[in-house]
Amino acid sequence: MKPKVAFFDFTSCEGCQLDALNLSGEELLELLNAVDIVNFREVKTERKDNYDIAFVEGSITRESEIPRLQKIRKQAKVVVALGACACIGGINCLKNHLTMEKALKTVYKEDAKYYDTIPARPIDAVFPVDYYVHGCPINTAELIKVLKALLLGKKPEIPNYPVCVECKMAGNVCTFERGMTCLGPVTRAGCGAICVNGGRFCWGCRGLVDEPNLDSERDILQKYGLTVDQVVEKFKIYNTYAEVTK
Ligand code: SF4
Ligand code: SF4
Ligand code: SF4
Repeated sequence: MKPKVAFFDFTSCEGCQLDALNLSGEELLELLNAVDIVNFREVKTERKDNYDIAFVEGSITRESEIPRLQKIRKQAKVVVALGACACIGGINCLKNHLTMEKALKTVYKEDAKYYDTIPARPIDAVFPVDYYVHGCPINTAELIKVLKALLLGKKPEIPNYPVCVECKMAGNVCTFERGMTCLGPVTRAGCGAICVNGGRFCWGCRGLVDEPNLDSERDILQKYGLTVDQVVEKFKIYNTYAEVTK
């Protein structure tokens, strides 16, 4: 019997699920041969609740999402957070800098009274999560790697070193040398430093490494005459939840 896999979404842009669908034809066939996808709103109308592995996209931003998420945890043997919103709270947590009343009024104006909201949070703020597929959006190669490891009964290996390692291996000129700030020294690798390869800088979408070397980030800022405030604004984009709850 093939393991049964389900995909769920909470508050998100659904870009990570879309990326899962961007697998090449060969990869998709390989996946469909190995697992039985029983629940995936974006691709099929038929839904079953007998899944073994649940991939959960999105952060939690309403009380009503919590019981739905808990039901998934109760059913699934393995829960995997899919993408920055689910893994670290991501950009939805930007509203946590406001009161919830202000956030609702900003978005819905006079209709705010019809809606409810709570401070946004990653799914592991509700219950323990087994594994994480980081990024905004996710890297499909990493999704396949995690799924293959789960099917083989192994623990998926997710990098726990900074983006700088991959950036140096890619032969990039450091963003700091180009007068910009970058969160690569404290951000979890696994994306191949794709943003720096493309001429930009790291925004920290894969979250912090387990033991970020904040002193090293400070030393770099000092070396280039930059202030902590200049990186904090970038840090907030994806890592507000870590910042607010630290
Ligand atoms: S992590 Fe990014 S791409 Fe994925 S659902 Fe959230 S906002 Fe969309
Ligand atoms: S600070 Fe940014 S640009 Fe510089 S090496 Fe690290 S990831 Fe690359
Ligand atoms: S370079 Fe940074 S912002 Fe870009 S994908 Fe990698 S972790 Fe995310």
